Amino acid sequence: MVYQADKNRYQSMVYQRCGQSGLKLPAISLGLWHNFGDTTLIENSRQLLHRAFDSGITHFDLANNYGPPPGSAERNFGRILQEDFHGLRDELIISSKAGYTMWEGPYGDWGSRKYLIASLDQSLKRMGLEYVDIFYHHRPDPETPLRETMRALDHIVRQGKALYVALSNYPAEQAREAIAILEDLGTPCLIHQPKFSMFERAPEAGLLDVLQQNGVGCIAFSPLAGGQLTDRYLNGIPADSRAASGSRFLNPDQLTEETLAKVRQLNALAERRGQKLSQMALAWVLQHDAVTSVLIGASKIAQIDDAVGMLANRHFSAAELSEIEAILRS
Ligand code: NDP
Repeated sequence: MVYQADKNRYQSMVYQRCGQSGLKLPAISLGLWHNFGDTTLIENSRQLLHRAFDSGITHFDLANNYGPPPGSAERNFGRILQEDFHGLRDELIISSKAGYTMWEGPYGDWGSRKYLIASLDQSLKRMGLEYVDIFYHHRPDPETPLRETMRALDHIVRQGKALYVALSNYPAEQAREAIAILEDLGTPCLIHQPKFSMFERAPEAGLLDVLQQNGVGCIAFSPLAGGQLTDRYLNGIPADSRAASGSRFLNPDQLTEETLAKVRQLNALAERRGQKLSQMALAWVLQHDAVTSVLIGASKIAQIDDAVGMLANRHFSAAELSEIEAILRS
């Protein structure tokens, strides 16, 4: 059946301004790192994209290497876009990235102008797009001069292949420097994408301040710590979960008794707030002033519905915030 986007799709989502830019992002964005490669049935990926867009999630986040195999998430996304999202391109914010290993040899990794420009051309071809809305440098390169990488981003915008550029995984001081170079070149940095959740607090130690001081947005990746900050693992490891999939990003060894004890206490607090733990975990990230959007992953439609349901209760009392700190420290 032909996909018809829900007419009410803009009614419940919250859209937040990205730093001091003109762009607003949905408070919840969908990442295609898992569940969109060739190892997933394309019909499942398709249903996830439909449900997300029907819920007002206008932002889909990709990267050259998402799959597996690398590149397949962009290719599958491009196919679904072409088949189902015809006429909707101007309602979508699509991002891609380059910075991790993509092809063999010295030009398929890190941050040279050679790599970034070639990689974006490949991404555009895979997705069947003329431009991406946001193009990221995926991680800092310890060898390439920062100015070369930033000039490549500036060039990409001037070529019309990206509307905005962005950084990911840059620590605070390097982010400050990169943001200043981009400003100087006349192509401001739109947003930074750090890992940020109740279990990953590093951005609070300086990065969020740098972003706010410079009018740059923040989109937090893995806000559920890959599923740990949900009820997914409260009663063992389900066969269809990320931890059971052999993923090197979430293996059963990470689900220690110490972690699970925290998850149980957080779950009890979420219940008292009348929401699921996944919803409380997303709301907790979003209540930081610097944060524009939480970038979730989903393997099931119900997980997207859970995330959107969070919008009904995004606020915390001071007592609840202290209780969360006490649990995380315990
Ligand atoms: P999350 O922390 O949101 O984890 C998502 C996983 O949690 C889901 O796949 C699902 O796992 C589980 N889950 C989600 N909702 C629920 C729920 N309501 N109840 C129970 N379990 C739930 O994010 P990801 O780690 O997937 O990362 C999100 C996105 O961030 C990526 O797709 C990518 O776009 C971006 N990213 C960026 C990186 C970078 O370097 N810039 C690095 C990593 C991610 P299950 O499979 O078990 O169902």
